[in-house]
Amino acid sequence: NLYLEPMARNLERSLALQKRAEALLPGGVDSPVRAFRAVGGEPPFVVRGAGAYLWDADGNRYLDYFGSWGPMVLGHAFPAVVEAIQQAAAKSASFGASTPAEGDLAELVVEAVPSIDKLRFVSSGTEATMSAIRVARAFTGRKYIIKFEGCYHGHSDGLLVKAGSGVATFGIPGSAGVPEEIAHYTLALPYNDIASVEAAFEAHRGEIACIILEPVVGNMGCVLPAGGYLETLRAITLREGALLIFDEVMTGFRVAHGGAQQRYGIVPDMTALGKIIGGGLPCGAFGGRAEIMNLLAPLGPVYQAGTLSGNPLAMAAGMATLQHLRQHKTEVYARLEALSAMVADGITAAAHEAGLPVVTNRVGAMFTWFFTEAPVTDFASAAASDTALFARFHHAMMEAGIWLPPSQFEAAFLSTAHTEADISATIEAARNAFAAIE
Ligand code: PLP
Repeated sequence: NLYLEPMARNLERSLALQKRAEALLPGGVDSPVRAFRAVGGEPPFVVRGAGAYLWDADGNRYLDYFGSWGPMVLGHAFPAVVEAIQQAAAKSASFGASTPAEGDLAELVVEAVPSIDKLRFVSSGTEATMSAIRVARAFTGRKYIIKFEGCYHGHSDGLLVKAGSGVATFGIPGSAGVPEEIAHYTLALPYNDIASVEAAFEAHRGEIACIILEPVVGNMGCVLPAGGYLETLRAITLREGALLIFDEVMTGFRVAHGGAQQRYGIVPDMTALGKIIGGGLPCGAFGGRAEIMNLLAPLGPVYQAGTLSGNPLAMAAGMATLQHLRQHKTEVYARLEALSAMVADGITAAAHEAGLPVVTNRVGAMFTWFFTEAPVTDFASAAASDTALFARFHHAMMEAGIWLPPSQFEAAFLSTAHTEADISATIEAARNAFAAIE
């Protein structure tokens, strides 16, 4: 069994590629968490993926638990997705004019996501949340926004305040280069804490345009909304005339076909999407009720645009992915739920058998093992995790050919390509890892 013996990985080629990349790209990467700085060790350079597996430049094989950070819910090189991209590419990669594919994908999104009547496609999750906020400010005529500590909504200026994800991984409170005047309009509050939301509305009555949140957080590791939390945010925003924006870039088409809003039965005013809707190609979207979305140019006064927005290859990959999810909805989400429960609970049990404190949070195929004892319900409790222990666990798992997200503050994901045998091997590898790192 591949997983039971350490692979004693040869990373020679990856090391050479990293060296070259470091001379050309800051940190050798195009997105900070890829550099493995939080866990140490060398980041393998990936050359190929198939199903639940990745191969690096030295030929080492890994079972993938980060799925390109969410998009690859059907696994790598899913045949229908590959074929759709090839067919679209043969007809030209981009037109900068409207195509039928945008309507095709929009129909599938509108049908699945309860809050969206109209949407606009963009090329990343960052653009989706940034643009949604601009629309919310225009709709309400207000300047302040509320976000929550540890929630990551991409890297636009106003949203890089107490953001999670890589910002949390590197222990940076915000980002240099964001003017205070912009950060001033972002009220960052603790997640799962209604009292602080009430206090913010008390202090800024009539000035808060929206609350934006990850309805299930992935970017401080996986953190669940407490019972009644989403309902109360919905009630408060309605009462205060502010918009509620669900950032479902990660949770959309993952925690349920219709995202967290379907799973928890709460309809926000606007929703941001990304990741899965592009099937692995650069794609995002933001949408909501028609009266809100009709504020966008060319109908209304809110400007937003994109040379590659609605790109035909991204639309094709998204269509192939969403069509599969729609056709096989029941089996897909039942399978993701069952396999995720198996791996999440199996590793938790293995940790506890080894006497290690591990708290597991999971919603559907999105989960985190926190190396801590107290329940993890917000950024402060997530940050109490033993990140050094997590790093040793991560390293031992990599050696066993299991690639977990390289930070305690990122959620793990599973795809429909994972099998029961993969899960059993993962749990076995974790058992060995825990014995080695105790
Ligand atoms: N919102 C959430 C919840 C995310 O997880 C991410 C990325 O991880 C983003 C927004 C930003 O998306 P992108 O990286 O595509 O800009």
